[in-house]
Amino acid sequence: MSMGKAVPPGGTIGILGGGQLGRMLALAAARLGLKTRVYCDNPDSPAFQVCEAHTVGKFEDLAAVTAFAAHCDAVTFEFENVPAATVAHIAQTKAVYPGAHALEMTQDRFDEKSFVQSLGLTTPRFGAVDSGAEARRLFAEYNSRAVLKTRRFGYDGKGQAKPKSADEAAAAFASFKGVPCIMEAFIDFDFEASVIAARGRDGSFAAYDPPENHHENHILARSVVPGRLTREQGAAAKEIARRIATALDYVGVFAVELFVLKDGSLLVNEIAPRVHNSGHWTLEACAVSQFEQHIRAVAGWPLGDPARHADAVMENIIGADALAWERYAARPGALHLYGKAEARAGRKMGHFTEVSPLTRD
Ligand code: AMP
Repeated sequence: MSMGKAVPPGGTIGILGGGQLGRMLALAAARLGLKTRVYCDNPDSPAFQVCEAHTVGKFEDLAAVTAFAAHCDAVTFEFENVPAATVAHIAQTKAVYPGAHALEMTQDRFDEKSFVQSLGLTTPRFGAVDSGAEARRLFAEYNSRAVLKTRRFGYDGKGQAKPKSADEAAAAFASFKGVPCIMEAFIDFDFEASVIAARGRDGSFAAYDPPENHHENHILARSVVPGRLTREQGAAAKEIARRIATALDYVGVFAVELFVLKDGSLLVNEIAPRVHNSGHWTLEACAVSQFEQHIRAVAGWPLGDPARHADAVMENIIGADALAWERYAARPGALHLYGKAEARAGRKMGHFTEVSPLTRD
């Protein structure tokens, strides 16, 4: 479907995926007078609690997805493993943003990194691995310091291995049951950062200040803005995002995860075609959060101002941390709990954001 008219207040945005990102998108839409419907395969989806209507169904069930989309004025998604074919199918009858092309490009680590390099941007060195022999060869080529990743469906460290020898590299490939992989040179980065940005239906672009990110057990633990990025690195990160968004003809919010090297350069690690955990601080520190920004883009509204009016530290509340909710509630700052019943290990249960007066614009 082509661009068409903006979805006016009272209209309905459909969201594929019902996790905490969908939940916060639905809350942001409500603030703008827009309704949301959520489609997810999990009957206990956190987003179901805060939307007007929901559908439980498989993402591959094109008939069910089409029936869902018929009730919506525009459709989006909150996680990148929605099949690109499903998004392409919806696009035959409904405006869906971001489009299937952007989704497909970011679902495969090899395609994504090749695309990023084609724009003249830098990624870690990488190569395709389809056999144990290739795993051994690239491991040696990268001086025995490398990360093996499945090309598709990896997240929070799943589908990743850090072999210590060529034998371990071949064994890691076998442990992924022969699915296509990539080997990446291991990067001794100084720290990690990300840039969250948005592109509107009209091609307008807005980027938030890039946070510094800290991971524990492969899961984001904390985002700090401003982090250690210099003003120049912040500007360079936003320019990277702009080039990616333009080349993909992207509509909506997305994140680019970056490695910041000791020499100051920025490497692109990964593109997430959706709102991102490292952007949750925008709820308190910006007039228009990443969630509202995404809804604005999808609905064809003008993008909001991404300017930051405060410094912020966002901490994830993971697994059993959530049992200490009373302690978080007593702390000065903003507590967000996602309405998940079971505090399983490694599960993102909520987050907490502390804001303080702006120290640097
Ligand atoms: P990813 O799923 O690709 O975002 O990787 C998850 C995390 O693993 C990253 O945030 C890094 O902390 C680490 N990591 C991934 N790739 C590399 C690499 N090539 N070199 C060093 N660390 C990496």
